[in-house]
Amino acid sequence: MRDQTLCVHRPAVSQEGYASLATPTHRASTIVFADAQAYAERGKRGPDGYTYGLHGTPTSRTLEASLTALEQGVRTVLVPSGQAGIAMVFLTLLQPGDTVLIPDTVYPPATSLCEDFLKPRGIGYRVYDPMIGAGIADLIDETVKLVWTESPGSTTMEVQDIPAIVAAAHARGVPVGCDNTWATPLYFKPLAHGVDFVVEALTKYAGGHSDLLMGSISVRELAQHRRLKDTIRALGIGVSPDECSLVLRGLETMAVRLAHASAVALDFARRMADRLPAELVLHPALPGCPGHDLWRRDFAGASGVFSLVVPQGAEAALPGLMTAARICAIGASWGGTRSLLAPMNIAGERRIGRAVHRGTILRISIGLEDPAELWADLEPIVEAIATAR
Ligand SMILES: *Cc1c(COP(=O)(O)O)cnc(C)c1O
Repeated sequence: MRDQTLCVHRPAVSQEGYASLATPTHRASTIVFADAQAYAERGKRGPDGYTYGLHGTPTSRTLEASLTALEQGVRTVLVPSGQAGIAMVFLTLLQPGDTVLIPDTVYPPATSLCEDFLKPRGIGYRVYDPMIGAGIADLIDETVKLVWTESPGSTTMEVQDIPAIVAAAHARGVPVGCDNTWATPLYFKPLAHGVDFVVEALTKYAGGHSDLLMGSISVRELAQHRRLKDTIRALGIGVSPDECSLVLRGLETMAVRLAHASAVALDFARRMADRLPAELVLHPALPGCPGHDLWRRDFAGASGVFSLVVPQGAEAALPGLMTAARICAIGASWGGTRSLLAPMNIAGERRIGRAVHRGTILRISIGLEDPAELWADLEPIVEAIATAR
């Protein structure tokens, strides 16, 4: 070969004896084929084959396989964010004329997807009480093609009766999806409880360092994997192998990070519940949390995210106390090494009457900092609530 070609064609080097513990980052758009016939027949490789970088590399497949094992499913697909995971499930299952049921406590952008994107395209949605359990049966008419769940619910932390909802939906031939971001597959396994599609925002605990966005969808049936792959292929959705390798790294420490955040969060929630009326502390492992018994029955743990209701009398002091916090940062998203405070106002978002909490709810995500220093940030907020009452 001449020099100009040598610049482009790399010599093959030996990989003999090369065994590393790291998963290589395979970057690719083009996948090359041994001969013209193999190229012509590439479609026969199916959803697990390699045909084009967008549709998977060994790096993304390694992450998918890790998640499939943790979720006890048969396949996983990766998408650019948790929200994309929700959207891909909805777009795969719903046609004009169909309806999806979503809990009142759903991640708010999922409601926006329904209201602002799906509804104008003829796909309806109805909001249900997250504590509905087997009563979901009464809402399932022949237009309902998906029941969506999220447990515990965003901000207010209600734990849903997933097995009862699955039983009622499956009895009518309707699949169930679950946003499992709070628990991660380490603390809850929706597929093992009959759920058909589980979505994780890997952005949170799996990534674990507040520096990437990714989502996953895991399924129990190969046919559902094929349908999801058809949707994401049509929409041109894919993930970067570099980010997959960061998530693979995050997964390696997820169990110890979660165990730490879980223990500190529960300790703090208990201290708050000792000092304040119990109903102000929204943590699934506390007996007062709606669905606490379901959490005990179905979950293997509680992650490091919980909420504190700030009654009206203490609301005025909250911004100053948050700004004064030395260690906790202020911001959305969570599941990283840094502890975060995010004031939420759900009043305008909820449609079902049972939302009892007016005013501000402070979402707290516990990270990996020194617990005593974290408590020094939180204690003045707890005191302000206690004295305002
Ligand atoms: C953060 C989050 C999402 C969305 O994840 P992104 O990767 O930020 O799009 C979905 N569901 C829940 C419960 C979340 O907390």
